[in-house]
Amino acid sequence: MSNKLDSCISRRHAIKTALAGGAASLVAGTGLMSFSGVSFAAALTKEERDAMSPDDVIAMMQEGNERFRSGKMQQHDYLAQKRASAKGQFPAAAILSCIDSRTPAEILLDMGLGESFNARVAGNICNDDIVGSLEFACAAAGAKVILVMGHTACGAVKGAIDKVKLGKLTGLLDEIQPAVQTTKYDGDRTSKNAEFVDQVAANNVRHSIKEIREESEVLAKMEKEGKIKIVGAMYHLNDGRLELLS
Ligand SMILES: [Zn+2]
Repeated sequence: MSNKLDSCISRRHAIKTALAGGAASLVAGTGLMSFSGVSFAAALTKEERDAMSPDDVIAMMQEGNERFRSGKMQQHDYLAQKRASAKGQFPAAAILSCIDSRTPAEILLDMGLGESFNARVAGNICNDDIVGSLEFACAAAGAKVILVMGHTACGAVKGAIDKVKLGKLTGLLDEIQPAVQTTKYDGDRTSKNAEFVDQVAANNVRHSIKEIREESEVLAKMEKEGKIKIVGAMYHLNDGRLELLS
C-alpha cells in the first residue's frame, strides 16, 4: 500500500482513536462529528482517492470485507458523508454486482457514501448500458478499479441453467448462457447442484469482464496503461467472504 494511503488510513484511525471515549466534538476539515465512544468514517476526499493505486483500492475493499465478516465495521455517519460528498464525489471503485437482496456491495465491503459506483443487475451481466456506466465511472469520474462481483447460490444463474422463460427476464438470462455452456463440469449440471451453480457464477463473472474489455476501447486502454484494474470476485453468502478470482 502506498505511503499516502497509509497516511490516509492512519489519519482516519487517528481521528477515530482521538474521539473514542471523548465528548462530542467536531473534527476540523473532515466534517466528522463524534459522540462519546462512537466515531465515524468520512467520505473519500479527492486527495485520498487520487493517492491510491488500483492495488490500494482492491486492498481497501478486501479490508472492508474483513471488517464486515468480523463484525467490526466502521460506524458510518451517513449524514456527515452526505454533507462531505454533496459538492463532489471521488469514488475509488466501480462495482458491477447482482440485484440479490443479500449482496449490497457497500455494506459487504464496508464502504460509505461517495466511495463506489454501483451497477446492479440480475446475474451481474454486461451490456452496452453497463459498459457506458463503467466508462463514466472510470474515464470521467476517476474510479481506479472495476470489480465484477458474482455470488454463490445466484438465482439468475440458476434460472439460466434451468432455461427459465419469463417476460424480459428471458433475454437477460440468455446473457448468462455462455457461462453455462463453457463451464466444464462432469457431475450433475442442474440448478440443484450448488457446486455447479457456483462454478457457472464464477465463469459468468469472467465472461462479464471479457465483455467489458472487448466492448470498451476506453476501458481496455485505461487498463493497458495501468490506470485501472478490472477484477472479478465471488461473494459467499454463507460466510460473507469476498473471494477474488484469477
Ligand atoms: Zn444473484
